[in-house]
Amino acid sequence: MNLPRALPWLDERRSALLAEIGVPAWWQPRALLPRPAAPVEAPPPVEPALPVRTAPLPKIPTPEAPAPVPIERPVTQQPATEPTHADIATLDWPELEAAIHACQRCGLAACRQRAVPGVGDRRPTWLIVGEAPGEEEDRQGEPFVGRAGWLLDRMLAALDLQRGHGVYIANVLKCRPPRNRNPEPEEIARCAPYLLRQIALLQPRIVLALGRFAAQTLLTEGGCLPPAEAARAPLGRLRGRVFQARLGELTLPVVVSYHPAYLLRNPVDKGKAWADLCLAAETLASADGAAPGAPTA
Ligand code: URA
Repeated sequence: MNLPRALPWLDERRSALLAEIGVPAWWQPRALLPRPAAPVEAPPPVEPALPVRTAPLPKIPTPEAPAPVPIERPVTQQPATEPTHADIATLDWPELEAAIHACQRCGLAACRQRAVPGVGDRRPTWLIVGEAPGEEEDRQGEPFVGRAGWLLDRMLAALDLQRGHGVYIANVLKCRPPRNRNPEPEEIARCAPYLLRQIALLQPRIVLALGRFAAQTLLTEGGCLPPAEAARAPLGRLRGRVFQARLGELTLPVVVSYHPAYLLRNPVDKGKAWADLCLAAETLASADGAAPGAPTA
């Protein structure tokens, strides 16, 4: 896979991409500063007064008539015929995708148009985990295809990454919560076995957790944080460091960052999100034995 040839300085193309998505061009990846080997507690979040220019976003087509608001249903009991966590842990790709599409493990099944298992390279270097499908994703059956997806794709492009090429994208929840409300803990608990099975099959080399729910799920499942602490920790305290998560048989580096939808609302934090991506890229480069910023194949 291609990592940036030299992270500390920005070539013209990367500068243009970062300017387009509103990351200050003069910003230097903090990831490249010397860091102690052991994970360190991140400093309390500081709100920098960054001069951020937000590029115009592509127009997402809106439906002619407003979509009917799905009725919010309580989480249902798992029917006896539904696969258990242990069953899911044995599925191959076709079986796993079929199980996700047929899933009735929680009440979200009743509201979805399409389940959204995930998309991309099934032998990826990067696994990117978001929260849950939104309206567009529910319609198209693919993760991150709306405005947040546009921003994610541009940030990946700034690292010479592209969905489908060395990258797999999935969500914690495979079905859209009504009106994009936050996932319920019970829904996450019911859906997490699918993500864990995906991780076992994908065997990525690094995981990027986007947003609070992806971070909580991966860090809790990975034994990095007790559930109560993960639920309490603000995202600003989880980002900017590399966790080693024990996910099934694998121990994987997990880097937490802001969710692209949050960044659309809070463009001032785009520089920090870019720093997180650089930290993840640098972690991979170090694992490959390359000096940070050195060309990699
Ligand atoms: N937000 C997510 O977390 N995932 C998607 O697929 C789309 C928006």
